[in-house]
Amino acid sequence: MEPCLELNTLTCQTISHSGQQIIGFCIDPNCQEKNKFACSECFFDTHSMHKLLKIKDLNNLLQTRYKDYKQSLEKEKDVIEDCKKAESEQIEKIEKLKQNVIEEIELKTKSFIEELKNKFSELINYKAKDFKNLIEYENFFIGNAAPVLNPDHSKLSEICSKIYKESSKNSETPKDNKDPSIPQEFSKPSQSSSSSSVKKEKKIHFNKERINNEFNKFIQDQLTSIQNYIKESFLLMPENLFSSSTKFEWCNKTYSGYDFFYRLTNNNTKGIKFLSNGTMTVLRAKEIIQDNYIYKIKFKIGYKFGGDFDVGIGTDKVGDSCWLRTKESICISNTGVINMDLNMDNSVTIKDGDIINLEINTEIGKKHFIGYINQKLICDLDFDINNIYIMAAIRNNSNSIEVLEYDVSQI
Ligand SMILES: [Zn+2]
Ligand SMILES: [Zn+2]
Repeated sequence: MEPCLELNTLTCQTISHSGQQIIGFCIDPNCQEKNKFACSECFFDTHSMHKLLKIKDLNNLLQTRYKDYKQSLEKEKDVIEDCKKAESEQIEKIEKLKQNVIEEIELKTKSFIEELKNKFSELINYKAKDFKNLIEYENFFIGNAAPVLNPDHSKLSEICSKIYKESSKNSETPKDNKDPSIPQEFSKPSQSSSSSSVKKEKKIHFNKERINNEFNKFIQDQLTSIQNYIKESFLLMPENLFSSSTKFEWCNKTYSGYDFFYRLTNNNTKGIKFLSNGTMTVLRAKEIIQDNYIYKIKFKIGYKFGGDFDVGIGTDKVGDSCWLRTKESICISNTGVINMDLNMDNSVTIKDGDIINLEINTEIGKKHFIGYINQKLICDLDFDINNIYIMAAIRNNSNSIEVLEYDVSQI
C-alpha cells in the first residue's frame, strides 16, 4: 500500500495546535467544521463534545475498503483487458469498414466517369464517323507542306478513291453528273452536301438544358439516397450488443395458422391487437427466460374493449391453443390468476389501466412467479417448467399491453 494513502501520520493544521498528531476524526452529525481531523487540542476546541472516531479506526476502514476495491479490480482484470481489447478491435473494424466504403465509392465513381466519357465520346464522334475519309484527306495536307508540293499520289489516290466510292454509294443518282468519275464533293462542293447525301447526314442530339437538368436531379437523388442510408442504417449501434439481457422487446412470432395480429410500437415494447377481433392470440417476448435470474417487469394494461386478456409466462407450446391457459403457463387474466390451467383465484381480475408487476425467479429447484396488481401482491406460485417466455394473449382489437420497466439480475 502506498504510504501517501495512510491517515496515521497527519498533523493538525490549526495554528495554535503546533503540529500535533491527528488522533481522531469527527463524525458528529451536528459538527459545522469543514476540517474533521482532530488532534488532542481540538478535542477541547473546535470539536469539543463532538462524536469522534479514532484515526486508527478510520484508517483501517479506508485501507480495507481500498483493498477491496483493488482486489475487485484485480478479479475483473481479465474481463477489463478483454473489454479493452474488444474495444480496439471493434474500432479497427469500423475504420476498415470506412476504408472499404470509400474504396467502393471510388470504384463506382471511376466506372461511372468512364461510362460518362464513353457516352460523350460516342456523341462527339458520332458525326466524325461519317466523314472519316474526308478527315483523312484533310490530315493529308494539313500541317505538312512537303506532300503538297510533291504529294504521295498513290496514298492520295487511295483516300480519294474511298471518298469517291462513298459518295457514289450515298448518291442515288450519280449518273446525273456530267462526269460520273468526278465525285459530287469535288465537282460541286457547295451543293454536294445539300443533295442526296444530306438525307443520310446525322445530327448530334444534345439537349443541353434537358440533359443538365436530368443529371443534376440524378446527382441529387444519389446524395439523398446516401444520406438516407447513413441516417437510417449506417453505423447505428446494434441494440443487443451490450444490453441483450436488460432490454425487453415483443417479437413478431406467429402461431400455428394464426398470423401476427399485433402492431408493435415504442421500440417493440407496446403491443396493440389490431386484426382478427375475437381471436385469442399470443404475443411473445423476443428473449427466452434463463435459469438463475430474477426478471422484474412492469406492464400497463389497455383493456377497454373486453374479451380475454392474459399476461404471464409460458412455453412456446402455448401457441397451439394460442393463449396462456395451458398446463405450461401461468397468467394473470380477466378471469383471475390461472396456474397451469387451474383457476387459482378469480377474485382478482385485470381492469383497464391496471399496472401489473411480475417477478419471475428462475433459481433452479426454487422457481417461482410473483404477481402484483397495482402494487398489491396477488400471487406467489412455484413452478417447474423450462423454456419459458414472458407472454400476453389478447382477444379483442384495440386492447393493448405495454412494458413500462424491465430489469434482469443474476442470482
Ligand atoms: Zn488540533
Ligand atoms: Zn466536530
